[in-house]
Formats: sequence, structure tokens, C-alpha cells
Amino acid sequence: MNLSDKKLWIFDVDNTLVHEIEDPVVYEDAKSLVDELRKRGKTLAVLTNTGRLSAHQIHTTLERAGFPFEESKVFSAGAAAAAYIHNRSPGARCFVISEGGARDDFIARGLEVVNNPPVDYVAVGADRGMTFQELNFAAKMLHGGAKLVCISGSRDYPGKYLGVRDIFIGELSIVKALEDATGVKATIVGKPLPEICEETVRTLGFAPSEAVIVGDNPNSDIAGGNAAGLTTVLIRRDPNKIVPFEAGGLDTTPTLTVASLEEVIDLL
Ligand SMILES: [Mg+2]
Repeated sequence: MNLSDKKLWIFDVDNTLVHEIEDPVVYEDAKSLVDELRKRGKTLAVLTNTGRLSAHQIHTTLERAGFPFEESKVFSAGAAAAAYIHNRSPGARCFVISEGGARDDFIARGLEVVNNPPVDYVAVGADRGMTFQELNFAAKMLHGGAKLVCISGSRDYPGKYLGVRDIFIGELSIVKALEDATGVKATIVGKPLPEICEETVRTLGFAPSEAVIVGDNPNSDIAGGNAAGLTTVLIRRDPNKIVPFEAGGLDTTPTLTVASLEEVIDLL
């Protein structure tokens, strides 16, 4: 296999570039590949399903870890959800259940983040400080006609919060409670939604055939990349750190599977 004609390389973050964004220990093989791609003048981007940190925060964390991605080329689930809503309803009033990152992404996109009616969209990301009142208010707004968006779609995920490393209940589990309470079905905006990969590639000015996505997760990175027409590279990492997502029947077979990203350098 020869990947020398690929111009855009999109990387997943957690369990691909670093162990996890809240504990950003670098994978050295990822560093080697990114450095080699940069030397060869390739365009480098990041597409992560994290919504609890903003694109700006993710950029800063990766930069400190030694990954020189430009901030404009860092795409988070929060930013993707904001773009999804903006494309359908510019300036929409959004009630956002999420840790701060997604709120910042929504505001940056020109959406109105509100805590009072009327509400056009209820958007739910991972939130380890959520209250019953917030959940109940969200349900009331959904009963009143608001649409429901899930920022990414993990049932649970590993992380570190208030000094404690643990597995935490994710945004999809919160959304399931709202769906059950209201009968409103959510749209999940994050990998593997093909629109997210397509939009990232288009925004950066490339065609899907020119792009590669590299990630650890068949159900998100590979399924989304395949459905959007990208070349997909699966890196085998710690299986205990693969966050559970639903592939929704998409093809999860990677174009290429490697045990180290240094194997990819030989194909450039
Ligand atoms: Mg990952």
C-alpha cells in the first residue's frame, strides 16, 4: 500500500495521539508519524469526539504535549455539534448540558447559550457536575418542542475529574434518560456520523479521496471515515481504553491496521 498521494491526515486524540486528553501522555509512534508528515508538507488535523473540552483547550493540551496542530485544524465534538445546529438554525437558542468546553464552542459558533425558555435545541455532552434541575429543565424544553442533540455518543469513558481517575457515565447515557422521559429521539453528532468527517475534509479544502483518518476505534474513527470515503488507519492500542460508541451498521473494517504508527511512515 502506498499513501504518498494523501494530502490531509486527520488524527483521533484519545488512545491515538495521547493516552487520554485528561492525562496527555504521548504515544511516541504517533509523534514520529506526525513529525514525518509535517516534514513532508502534509496538512494535519484533529477530529475528536471529546466535547467536555473546547477546540481551543484541546489545541493547547496537544501543543504542550508536543503536537503542533494549528488551532483552526482542531475539530471537537462540541464544535461539530455547534456547526450542525448552526447549519440548520443560525443563532438558535441552545440549552447546553455539558462541561465548559462545548459551551465555548457553541458561543464561538454564534449560537445563543441560554438557561431560560424559549429553547430551540437541548444539547447534551459529558457533564460530571450535572444537576437534577438541569435534566428536568431539559425534559420540559423537549416536551415543549425543542430538538435534542447528543454531543458525541459515548455510554461511558475513562477520565480524570477532581483528581480522581475513573470510568464516567457519558453523554449518551444522559441522553437515553431524556429520550425515555420525553419520547424525543436525539441526533448524535460526533464520529461515526459521516457528516462530521465530510465537513472536516471540506472545511480544510480537500476531497475525501485525498484524506486519511487515523484512530484507535473501529466504531467511531473507522466507521465514520469509511462512510465519508476516507482512507482509514486503525492503530491497535490499549483495548481497555476504547470508548464504546455505536457504529449504527456502518462498515468498521479499516483500510489498514497497524500495531505501531511508525509502520505508516514506510508507506509515505
Ligand atoms: Mg480514540
